[in-house]
Amino acid sequence: MSTSTKKVALVTGGTRGIGLGIARQLASDGFNLAVNGRRGEQEVAAALEELKTLGTDVLYCQADVAIASGRAGMVEQIRAKFGRLDVLVNNAGVAPEVRADLLEATEESFDRLMGINLRGPYFLTQLVARWMVEQRAADPSFSGCIVNVSSVSATEASVNRGDYCLSKAGVAMATKLWAARLAEFGIQVYEVRPGVIRTDMTSSVTDKYDKLIAEGLTVEPRWGNPEDVGKAVGVLARGELSYATGNVILVDGGLTLPRL
Ligand code: NAD
Repeated sequence: MSTSTKKVALVTGGTRGIGLGIARQLASDGFNLAVNGRRGEQEVAAALEELKTLGTDVLYCQADVAIASGRAGMVEQIRAKFGRLDVLVNNAGVAPEVRADLLEATEESFDRLMGINLRGPYFLTQLVARWMVEQRAADPSFSGCIVNVSSVSATEASVNRGDYCLSKAGVAMATKLWAARLAEFGIQVYEVRPGVIRTDMTSSVTDKYDKLIAEGLTVEPRWGNPEDVGKAVGVLARGELSYATGNVILVDGGLTLPRL
């Protein structure tokens, strides 16, 4: 095993959408990258090649974040390839397959969303945090950074996707818990809370949000882009908000700004 001289960041769900926006930003900021996704490497080759053109070393980790052996395998792959991990971005997440009213929604959908959106990142954080603590013990100048990508759904009630809202509210609390537990080891933990971002996840509700945005849903009258979220994560990963652990960065164009 060799140890990368560059800092290394792991971005889950990093081959498209918001995750790819974050990976592009971190590659431009000089991180080597471990990019996770569920698809086979051939299927995501274009995204990986694009990231490599930014001058970064890219390791693809095919794994389902909801599965413990998948999470462990990812961390082992990163140890073997880079010998270090400085930044974890828990980005992978899913919306419910069907937006179902609270009175109709199923336990299957609830379990799926909790597994991928909350249990997966919570226990991946545990695994990575243990390794970061080890790295800190070996090198007192080591500083780690963990970013959880939640959603405005952590606070805004949508009665047609209660499972999603609950999973993201859980991510908000997980951020506070890990921030409190890891500060003594020089590891900062943050939540980045996007609003309405144009990705595959929101492609089926384009008309709905076009209309809502035109009617004033957000203060800034436009959709957010993956790059908007990438920039926020870049600030955190570069350590520019180092005395602000546990905080929430809203990237929502003012969607949650209270107005009269
Ligand atoms: P997306 O569907 O475009 O991309 C999600 C990525 O995560 C995909 O690459 C997918 O394959 C991967 N993924 C899904 N389940 C996985 C699993 N079990 N294991 C590993 N990878 C998995 O979605 P997006 O819009 O880019 O969303 C990224 C994150 O941002 C999600 O956590 C989502 O909840 C959150 N978010 C999105 C929006 C939005 O408007 N798009 C708003 C707020 C928050």
